[in-house]
Amino acid sequence: MWISLLCFISLLGLKVTAQQPFTLAEIEDQIAAYQRNHGVSAVGVSAAGPPVKCSLACAFLNSTISGSTSFRGSSRYKLDGSRYWSLQQTASDPVCRVVPTSVVDVSTAILSFRVTNCQFAIKSGGHAAFSGASNINGGVTLDLKQLNQLSVAGDRKQIAVGPGNSWGDVYSFLDPQSLSVIGGRVSDVGVGGLTLGGGISFFSGHWGWACDNVNNFQVVFADGTINDVNFKSFPDLYWALRGGGNNFGVVTQFDLVTFPQSDLWAGSNIYLYTTDLARQFNTAFSDLNIAADPKAAAIFVYAYSQSFGSWAIVTDLQYTEPEPNPLIFQNFTQPSKVVASTLRLTSMAGAASELNASNPYGFRQTYWTMTFKNSPTLMSDISAMFIEEIDQIKTIPDLVSSLVFQPITTAITSHFSKYGGNSLGFNDRDGPLTLMQIDISWIDTQNDDRVMSAARSVISRANTTAYAQNLGHPYIYQNYASAEQNVFKGYGEQNLLKLQEISRKYDPSRVWQDLQPGFFKIF
Ligand SMILES: Cc1cc2nc3c(=O)[nH]c(=O)nc-3n(C[C@H](O)[C@H](O)[C@H](O)COP(=O)(O)OP(=O)(O)OC[C@H]3O[C@@H](n4cnc5c(N)ncnc54)[C@H](O)[C@@H]3O)c2cc1C
Repeated sequence: MWISLLCFISLLGLKVTAQQPFTLAEIEDQIAAYQRNHGVSAVGVSAAGPPVKCSLACAFLNSTISGSTSFRGSSRYKLDGSRYWSLQQTASDPVCRVVPTSVVDVSTAILSFRVTNCQFAIKSGGHAAFSGASNINGGVTLDLKQLNQLSVAGDRKQIAVGPGNSWGDVYSFLDPQSLSVIGGRVSDVGVGGLTLGGGISFFSGHWGWACDNVNNFQVVFADGTINDVNFKSFPDLYWALRGGGNNFGVVTQFDLVTFPQSDLWAGSNIYLYTTDLARQFNTAFSDLNIAADPKAAAIFVYAYSQSFGSWAIVTDLQYTEPEPNPLIFQNFTQPSKVVASTLRLTSMAGAASELNASNPYGFRQTYWTMTFKNSPTLMSDISAMFIEEIDQIKTIPDLVSSLVFQPITTAITSHFSKYGGNSLGFNDRDGPLTLMQIDISWIDTQNDDRVMSAARSVISRANTTAYAQNLGHPYIYQNYASAEQNVFKGYGEQNLLKLQEISRKYDPSRVWQDLQPGFFKIF
């Protein structure tokens, strides 16, 4: 019976090996056959615009990959379309949403988009803030949520992680095995976007960013083939993927380095803002950055609280050993002035879930970023600018605004050269750097212009001041950037040219550039 079933399948022209994708010509034939059978005229004849082309891709994928496709009006389409962090992303309206359950399905989908000339977006955790980043109007959204494999290697030194996982999924799986990975710090963020853009982790002082700790990427190329991309197989593409975002293929599995890890010491202290405290903590931050202790990480925040009508300082501190109140943070705590504290020994899942709670869904969001050389006085200048700009808009209903500083120590960047290096365009020779991020959320679209204008103004003023003080740096962190920022220019001319050359080599038809228009592009 099995033999006759296999004969029947092969007569239908379907491939039976799990890892065997179709070719572009085969998908072309299948779509032509689908059109003949369903009375749809040839692609390019009836297909006048993108929606028609994507309707054909959706109909074909719905019939080819059983149960994969949801259409406008269905409850599944609505539910999956609501699973984005920002309201700007949930507002997009794709013709259909496709949820592949295997890497071959991903390949079939990409080739179908090529044959029908249908634009698409790829979604992992859906935490990119701006419109079109991982959802698309009038195109197709490929949602990788079912590619959620998690499998630790026999020697416990690596874990295979599907892009359908959030970091919370990964930590909940690894914590009980006393293992961890260099990944995100907020549980609902996706493995896909964070890793391809860089990936700051509590453990970055020990091993670099997330992208520096991927042994192998399983990638669907623009020609539909499925390839293992690592330092040996495709060194140029391996370099490009470590910082190149969505420009080089769909990653269907990340093989991440694991390491033994028990509890860590982590949490937040909240203080009411005073200029004295701000000055003290800016210096503590700068000292911490210079000290470059691989075990110590910090996220340092100035935030305006509408409910209290006042500014607050939040110090998120993490120490990668189970050691309470480590000495390295002694200038970063003021026990007598703390309003609230969550610092404690906790698991990675616990730490990531705490930070998740302070980043709720259901708001319009904007992220902006810049980088500068370590300087407590520049931090004071920038926080003064931020307070000044936010004071103009702080009565906007439901506004939550934060200015965030994070150290990029030389301990972190010393790992950027591993396995041929990443493509981010800076390293430990740049000295300790400070990553600044603006994060503002609100609800009503009518306030978009005022919020964006305030954020834009802080970035512009802060950069002008930084360069005037000889403290400017061109790097713009892709994962925190606004759509208006020129991320890849910040990687340096040489790196950008190299990324473009690699793109021409592996994607001569410009699939990832033209058919997938969202997020940051290298051309
Ligand atoms: C609350 C919050 C907390 C954060 N915490 C951290 C942090 O601790 N460290 C840090 O470095 N950053 C952090 N970030 C930034 C985060 O890294 C970016 O927002 C990132 O883009 C989110 O990835 P995602 O998969 O969730 O998003 P998505 O919106 O799904 O994807 C982002 C982009 O990556 C592309 N992409 C995703 N997966 C793939 C894939 N498998 N193949 C090809 N392209 C793909 C998408 O097409 C999209 O263009 C945080 C962001 C938020 C909102």
